[in-house]
Amino acid sequence: MEIRVFPLGPLETNCYVVVNDKKALVIDPGGDPAQVIQYLKHSGVELDRILNTHLHFDHIYGNQPLAEATGKTIYASPDDLILMDTEVGRGGMMGLPTVTPFENEDITEGDTEFIGLECKIFATPGHTPGSLTFYFPELKTAFVGDLIFRRSIGRTDFPYGNTEQLMQSVKQKIFSLPEETELLSGHGPVTSVNEEKNHNPFFSGMQI
Ligand SMILES: [Zn+2]
Repeated sequence: MEIRVFPLGPLETNCYVVVNDKKALVIDPGGDPAQVIQYLKHSGVELDRILNTHLHFDHIYGNQPLAEATGKTIYASPDDLILMDTEVGRGGMMGLPTVTPFENEDITEGDTEFIGLECKIFATPGHTPGSLTFYFPELKTAFVGDLIFRRSIGRTDFPYGNTEQLMQSVKQKIFSLPEETELLSGHGPVTSVNEEKNHNPFFSGMQI
């Protein structure tokens, strides 16, 4: 089992590649996926599927190119499709390019298995209405997208963002995970449940 990170695209979004048994998941290809494709090829790993934590342009720029290059399917929450009618979904903000349109299958909260690993998918709305967290108990790791960062939280001032929901998602879904669980965010360094419970200023003084 291995987790690789490739910061991709104009906002250096963390694109994660999870590998198990010569199969891989790609989470949030936020830019040109050439490095990811090369890595998969060189390590003899087959891509299984592409997962999106949420549909913001900086997490999905590489969706279509990666799907096209590999023939694999993109999975995203149906609750975020509404964002594709906004600039923060389809891109074009700050003079940045627009996202190449892509097709996806729906994915929602529940227990499943990917590449031979148990995965618990949590609906963690707030940053976007359809934000998902992918928790892999065997890896002691949760991919949280832009829900929570080291010592910070995701923005909620974009269309359909909701601060109250975000705080609830973190408290109910993230802070109830085992303390040692590593949190891999859409931007910046790795952190953990324990670290954020104790040091995240947005939750300081909170009764958990
Ligand atoms: Zn985002």
